[in-house]
Amino acid sequence: MAGGKKPSKRPAWDLKGQLCDLNAELKRCRERTQTLDQENQQLQDQLRDAQQQAKALGTERRTLEGHLAKVQAQAEQGQQELKNLRACVLELEERLSTQEGLVQELQKKQVELQEERRGLTSQLEEKERRLQTSEAALSSSRAEVASLWQETAAQAALLAEREERLHGLEMERRRLHNQLQELKGNIRVFCRVRPVLPGEPTPPPGLLLFPSGPGGPSDPPTRLSLSRSDERRGTLSGAPAPTRHDFSFDRVFPPGSGQDEVFEEIAMLVQSALDGYPVCIFAYGQTGSGKTFTMEGGPGGDPQLEGLIPRALRHLFSVAQELSGQGWTYSFVASYVEIYNETVRDLLATGTRKGQGGECEIRRAGPGSEELTVTNARYVPVSCEKEVEALLHLARQNRAVARTAQNERSSRSHSVFQLQISGEHSSRGLQCGASLSLVDLAGSERLDPGLALGPGERERLRETQAINSSLSTLGLVIMALSNKESHVPYRNSKLTYLLQNSLGGSAKMLMFVNISPLEENVSESLNSLRFASKVNQCVIGTAQANRK
Ligand code: ADP
Ligand code: MG
Repeated sequence: MAGGKKPSKRPAWDLKGQLCDLNAELKRCRERTQTLDQENQQLQDQLRDAQQQAKALGTERRTLEGHLAKVQAQAEQGQQELKNLRACVLELEERLSTQEGLVQELQKKQVELQEERRGLTSQLEEKERRLQTSEAALSSSRAEVASLWQETAAQAALLAEREERLHGLEMERRRLHNQLQELKGNIRVFCRVRPVLPGEPTPPPGLLLFPSGPGGPSDPPTRLSLSRSDERRGTLSGAPAPTRHDFSFDRVFPPGSGQDEVFEEIAMLVQSALDGYPVCIFAYGQTGSGKTFTMEGGPGGDPQLEGLIPRALRHLFSVAQELSGQGWTYSFVASYVEIYNETVRDLLATGTRKGQGGECEIRRAGPGSEELTVTNARYVPVSCEKEVEALLHLARQNRAVARTAQNERSSRSHSVFQLQISGEHSSRGLQCGASLSLVDLAGSERLDPGLALGPGERERLRETQAINSSLSTLGLVIMALSNKESHVPYRNSKLTYLLQNSLGGSAKMLMFVNISPLEENVSESLNSLRFASKVNQCVIGTAQANRK
C-alpha cells in the first residue's frame, strides 16, 4: 500500500474489487522484486568488489604481517641493543664518575704539587745560594789544603830525617851501652848477703862488715870483710884473734838490699840481650844462701819479693815494646831445665812427663849450627808477665814432685832458665838475636870429710862430686876464656856445654855470690868468696853483638 493509505477493507462479496486489489498488489510485488533484483545485483557487485577488496587486503595484510614480524624482530633487536646500550651507558656513567673522582683527586694533587713545587723552588733557590757560598768556602779550603799538603810533605821529610836520626841514635846508644858494659867488665861479680832469718842465731857483731868505698857511704858498697876466729892462733896467743878476709867485687849487696835494688844494677845488662849480646847470670853459693830467692823470688807471690827472672822478663817486654815504635819486632822463647847428676831434665814438662822428666839431651840445633837445643824439652813462646809466671809456677811444681823422690834435689841441681830473643827491623833488613840465661847453681857446699860413708852418704858423695866437678869446670871455663886459651873445657860438664854460647867471646856474664850471714856458715862463705874473687879477676875480650 503505497502512500500509506490504508486500503479500505472490501466486503467479502466484492470479489472484483478484491481481484483488482490483488492485481495491484502483484504489480507492486513485481516492481518490488525488480528493485530487489536490481538491489541484489548491486549488492552482488558490491560483494564481488568487497571480496576482491578483501583478497587484496588479505595479501596486503600478509605482507604487512611479514613486515610487522620483521619490524617486531627489529624492535626486539633494537630493544636488546637498547638494553646493551643502557648497560654500556651505565658502565660508562660509572666510569665517568670514577674518572671524575680521579680527575678531582688529580686536581687536588696538582694543587698540592704546585704548592710543593713552589716550596721546592724556594728551597732550591736557598740551596743554590748556599751552594754558591759553599763553593766560595771550598775554593778557599782547597787553597788551604794545598798549602797543608805542602806543609805535610815538609813534615814527612822532616819526620823521615828524624827517624833516620833516631835510628842512628839507637844504634849509637847500643854501641855506647855496650861500651859501658865492657868498661864495667864482661864478667862481673856481685856479692849478696842474705838477712838473718827469724829463728836463726844472731851472728857475732863484726862477722861481716861492709866498708864504704873511696867515695864514702854515698857510694854503692863494693867491699866486704869477713872475720873468722882462728882457733889455732887463738890458743897460741892466749886470746882468740879473728882473721880478717877482705874482698872486693863489682857490687856488694848487704842484707837489707831489696830485690828491686838488685835488679836495678842488672837491668842494663839484661837489656844488652835485646841488642844482640848473649847474657848469662849465675847465682853461686851454698844451700840456703839465697840463690833461689835472688833468681826466682821469695815465697808467697809478693811482688816486692819477685826475683830476677820475672823482673828481667818484664823489663825486656817493656823495652821491646818501646823499640817497636822504632820498627823493631821482638819475639821471646823460654826454656827451663834442671841438670842433676849430669842428667838434663825439663822443668816445663807437662802431662805424663811432669815431675819425672824424660831423657833430655843437649844437641846442636842443626848440622853446622852453633845453636844448641835440649831434646825433649819444651820451648815456650812468651810475650807477657802472666805467661812467665805460669812457667815459673810449673817449674816449681815439677821440682816439688821430684823433691818427694829425692830429698832436696833442687839444691843439688842446677836450674837453667833460658830466653831466646830474636829481634828484627824489617824495613831496614836488620836482625839480632841473643839468649839470656839465668842460672840457679847447685849448692856449693863441700861434703864434710869426717862423715861416715853409709849407702845414703855414698849417693850423696857422688852427687856432691858431680856438683863440685861442674862448678869447678865452670870456674875453669871462665879462666880458660879469660886467658884466651885455645882449648876451653866446655864439654867437661853438661852445664858449661849447654851454656857455651853464653860464655866467653861475645857474651856478658854476671855472677852473684850469695852468702849466708850465719857464723856456722863462715867456712862455706869463705870458700864462695874465694871462688867468686877468682872469677872476678877474669876479664873476657870485647863482646860482639850477634848481628846479621
Ligand atoms: P838457696 O836457693 O841458695 O838454697 P834460698 O833462696 O832458698 O837459698 O834461701 C833460703 C831462705 O832464705 C829462704 O827461706 C829464703 O826465702 C830466705 N832468703 C834468702 N835470701 C833472702 C833475702 N835477701 N831476704 C829475705 N829472705 C831471704
Ligand atoms: Mg835454691
